[in-house]
Amino acid sequence: MSKIQRSAEEYVQGILAGNRVVLGQAITLVESTRPEHQALAQTVIQQLLDQRQGSAEASQDSGHTSQASIRIAITGAPGAGKSTFIEALGMYLVEQGEKVAVLAIDPSSAVSKGSILGDKTRMERLSASEHAFIRPSAAGTSLGGVARKTRETILLVEAAGYNTVLIETVGVGQSETAVHRMTDIFLLLLLPGAGDELQGIKRGIVEMADILAVNKADGDRVKLANQARAHYLNATHLLPPKASGWAPVVLRCSAQEGTGIAEIWDAIATCRSQLMKNNFFEKNRRQQAKYWLEEAIDAGIKAAFFGNPAVRAQLAALEPEILAGRVSPFAAAEAMLHAYFKENPS
Ligand code: GDP
Repeated sequence: MSKIQRSAEEYVQGILAGNRVVLGQAITLVESTRPEHQALAQTVIQQLLDQRQGSAEASQDSGHTSQASIRIAITGAPGAGKSTFIEALGMYLVEQGEKVAVLAIDPSSAVSKGSILGDKTRMERLSASEHAFIRPSAAGTSLGGVARKTRETILLVEAAGYNTVLIETVGVGQSETAVHRMTDIFLLLLLPGAGDELQGIKRGIVEMADILAVNKADGDRVKLANQARAHYLNATHLLPPKASGWAPVVLRCSAQEGTGIAEIWDAIATCRSQLMKNNFFEKNRRQQAKYWLEEAIDAGIKAAFFGNPAVRAQLAALEPEILAGRVSPFAAAEAMLHAYFKENPS
C-alpha cells in the first residue's frame, strides 16, 4: 500500500456496510508496519468497537441479545485436510445463510510468502462465494506480530458481518497456542490410523482441542479412521478436565465427500451453547483481551528498548565481553535496563 486512500470514516462505513473491497483494504492497513497506517488502523478499530458497543446496548434495550460471533481454530498436521475441510464446512454454513470468514496464522509465511491459504485454488468454491471472505496469513517476522494482526483482523471481519470466523493454523508449532488465545472453540483435524507421534501432533495441542475430527474417513480408510477415533477417545479420557467444563468429543468426517460435516457443526453449536450457559464464553473472551493487552505492552516495551540507539551501542560493545565470559549476562542486562529507564523515566 503506497498511500492512505481513505479516511477512518470511509473505512468504518464501508466495513459496516459489508463492502468486501474496503474490508480487504482495512486489513491491509492493519497489516502495514508504517506508523501512519497503524495510527489510522487503530482509529478504525476503535470506531468499530464503539459502534459494536452501541448496537449491543440498543439490542439489549429492545429485548434482543445480539447474535455473538463464533471464532473457531482449525488445526492439524500438514496434509490432514484442513483446507478441504474448511471448504466443506464453509460451504455448508454459507448454504445455511451464514457469513464465513477464513483467516490463517502462519509465521512461516514471512519466509515462504504465504504458504497457507496463499494458494486460493485450494478453496475454489468457498472463495467464489460472496458470503465467504478468505484472507491468507499476514506476513511478519515474529509469531506475536502475525498473531496480533490476525486478532485485529477478526474484529474487522466481524464488524463486516462475518459471524463465523475460522482460523487455520499449521499444527506443528507454537502458532496453535496463539490461535487458542483468540478463539472460542478449538478443532483438531486428524488423519486416520496414526497416533499423535506419527502425526507430529504434540500432546499440548490435543489438550487444547474441544473437538477432534478424524478426517478422510472414506473408501478403504474407514477402518483406520475408526481405529484413530478409538485411540483419541481413549486419549481424551485420560486428559485433565477442561476449565470450560466441556468434555472433548471425537468425530469422523470426510471433507472430500462432505460426510460428517453437519455432525461436526452440531458439536460446535452444542459446545458454544454450553460455554455460553456456564459463562465461560464471555469470561474466556475477557481473559483473552487481557492477554493480548499484556502481550502488546510486552512487545511495545521490547521494541522501544531494543530500538533505543544507546541500548544498541551498549549491546554491541558488551556482547563480545559476555560471549568471552568476562561479563555476566545478568549484570549487563541489569545495567542496560537501569540506564534505559533512567533515561526514560516513567
Ligand atoms: P492441509 O495441508 O491440511 O490443508 O490438507 P489439504 O486440504 O490440502 O489436503 C491434503 C490432501 O488430502 C489433498 O490431496 C486432499 O485432496 C486430500 N484430502 C483432504 N480431505 C480428504 C478426505 O476427506 N478424504 C480423502 N480421501 N482425501 C482428502
